[in-house]
Amino acid sequence: METMTSIDSSTLSAAERKALRQEQAAAQRAQQLRISQSRAKAEGRTQVVPTPEGWKQEMGADGRPQLQFAAKRRVSQPPTHLADLTLAERQEKLKELGLPAFRAKQLSVHYFQHYTTDPAKMSDLPKNGREELAEAMFPTLLTEVKRLTTDDGKTIKFLWRLFDGSLVESVLMRYPNRITLCISSQCGCGMNCPFCATGQAGLTRNMSTAEILDQIVQANRVIAEGGLGGQKHPDERVGNIVFMGMGEPLANYKRVMNAVHRMVADAPEGLGMSARGITVSTVGLVPAIRKLADENIPVTFALSLHAPDDELRDELIPVNSRWKVDEALDAAHDYYVKTGRRVSIEYALIKDMNDHEWRAELLAKKLNARGRGWVHVNPIPLNPVPGSIWTRSEPDITSKFVHRLDELGVPTTLRDTRGKEIDGACGQLAADGD
Ligand code: SAH
Repeated sequence: METMTSIDSSTLSAAERKALRQEQAAAQRAQQLRISQSRAKAEGRTQVVPTPEGWKQEMGADGRPQLQFAAKRRVSQPPTHLADLTLAERQEKLKELGLPAFRAKQLSVHYFQHYTTDPAKMSDLPKNGREELAEAMFPTLLTEVKRLTTDDGKTIKFLWRLFDGSLVESVLMRYPNRITLCISSQCGCGMNCPFCATGQAGLTRNMSTAEILDQIVQANRVIAEGGLGGQKHPDERVGNIVFMGMGEPLANYKRVMNAVHRMVADAPEGLGMSARGITVSTVGLVPAIRKLADENIPVTFALSLHAPDDELRDELIPVNSRWKVDEALDAAHDYYVKTGRRVSIEYALIKDMNDHEWRAELLAKKLNARGRGWVHVNPIPLNPVPGSIWTRSEPDITSKFVHRLDELGVPTTLRDTRGKEIDGACGQLAADGD
């Protein structure tokens, strides 16, 4: 290290400088790994290093995993759908089509309250021109390709094809007193986290506002038709939304926020849902977190932390090279201060990688340093990739981790994810159509 840093880099060519930077970064990583290893050893544990298995993680010019904040090439968005527009914009559009503005409300009721886009069912509209109108306002967005069911029919994974052939997934889950839908916000993902299936193919494009919302409307239709197992109650529908499907929601900020606005807007402008039931989960795009805090919509905010130390998080969550653990935690804490909403920290427990006791202690220290009562931690044993380095923590290690956080005053709830059998759990959504 020392001899390298003493080189006068101004005498080097650009290529040499780049090679030097990469060498220095590698040496620094090796040094940090030695520290992690000795800490693990002190606990009688080992330290496993994150490396992608069975696929190649794309690297950028800096030798770090490639981050993609926008689609690689110009891609077109689907045709405008009623759900892309506010009620006022819908009225405007109908006037442009030479129709009375009040039709906007009727069409909105069909879509957001009856979950239908079928002109045959819209008997309150004049027969003449009804089909053309429905076609203009409700272009087909999501076509069902496959439906997989588990948990006695209480969990359904949908695979949808979009207008351009892109594939996305959403997962519908019935719990004893609520129905939750896990939705996608992008086709693929550009965040390149080595343990997550979605990131492996990179980002294709952002989903449109209406594509995001149509996942909910389609799920509501399935529920209304009795397609979700278990005891059915009249008028039930999706009450909780988690942006934990494919994509990084805050990298598609505008469309995601428009979708959130429409979820909480009273019917028939939107779905009339409660903002508290909506969870936006992010890898930690700090400027976008700050923007979200200023929106004045009290959605639940979740930060995918997965490691309290930059050394490991740099490897696990490549965007950590832009915004470090402390910056992400500061932004999460500010979210709490501005909105009064307690934030969640997501932590996938990965065997011998991030599940050491010293990491539970460091996490508690960093959270407590920012105050009490503002945060809770949701560890999730990693979803299975049997036999690989990406293996869930052992049950006793998991309990120790949870217990240590609790002991240190951090409210912690272990979560088990639904849908593992159908690759519908967190990090398993790849939409490969197999
Ligand atoms: N891009 C967003 C939302 C999508 S992922 C985010 O990262 O927050 C939703 C959650 O699933 C994230 O916390 C993500 O880190 C986690 N996850 C990814 N792969 C996982 C896996 N194999 N097992 C458990 N959780 C996983």
